[in-house]
Amino acid sequence: MIFHKTGEEIERIKKSSLLVGKTLAEVAKIIKPGVTTLDLDKIAEEFIRDNNALPGFLGYGGFPNSLCTSVNSAVVHGIPNDKPLKNGDIVSVDCGVLMNDFYGDSAYTFEVGEVSKEVRDLLRVTKECLELAIEQARAGNRIGDIGYAVQNHAESNGFGVVRELVGHGLGRSLHEKPEVPNYGKKGKGHKMKPGLVLAIEPMINLGKKEVKQLDDGWTIITKDNLPSAHFEHDVAISLDGSPEVLSSFEEIEKVLINK
Ligand code: MG
Ligand code: MG
Repeated sequence: MIFHKTGEEIERIKKSSLLVGKTLAEVAKIIKPGVTTLDLDKIAEEFIRDNNALPGFLGYGGFPNSLCTSVNSAVVHGIPNDKPLKNGDIVSVDCGVLMNDFYGDSAYTFEVGEVSKEVRDLLRVTKECLELAIEQARAGNRIGDIGYAVQNHAESNGFGVVRELVGHGLGRSLHEKPEVPNYGKKGKGHKMKPGLVLAIEPMINLGKKEVKQLDDGWTIITKDNLPSAHFEHDVAISLDGSPEVLSSFEEIEKVLINK
């Protein structure tokens, strides 16, 4: 079943999504070599609770923390730990909150210290994939149009597109239908209508597309051990049929620019 949201429900999702962006900005402030992903998790959980919301990931399917922190070859679903981040690492920080019965879910991949040119290119292209995907999130378009946009841009830059993990609908549940793959064919799949809210989240690998799960039961890593990037926005198909981005990287990037 695919749920379509009212304008009021979309406003609530937007509030939750914006709180995620503010939480990720708090995380951005402290990211540097020597900091651990558990430090990031602690800051995030406190900030979410101080804003009268609940961490959306904590306890979800048994997940032990408030953030998914995925370093270098980890793609998504990394569990925060006490290992210090090193100069040249990248870390995808994925955060969900639940507030007023609706979830927000957004992710940003951060550079730790000085990162190599090829990894910076990976981050730029992954973010461009997200922007191109959002452009396709329109009434009358199909889910395959979103996947095609991501896949085409990533592969034409020589990067691998993860198949096993996908974006999703978002609302009263963290993961709703439809699935939003980062690959696909133009004109195929579910036809989008106003009121649909999607979490669009390209996961793009520097090397090959293949991934595997670690023994911790959560962390997804690249099989070739090369880095992977991940950016996620929540997007509503608005009443006039156009994409409305509900989450925001603005607060995050304000922090990064001033660092
Ligand atoms: Mg997410
Ligand atoms: Mg998501």
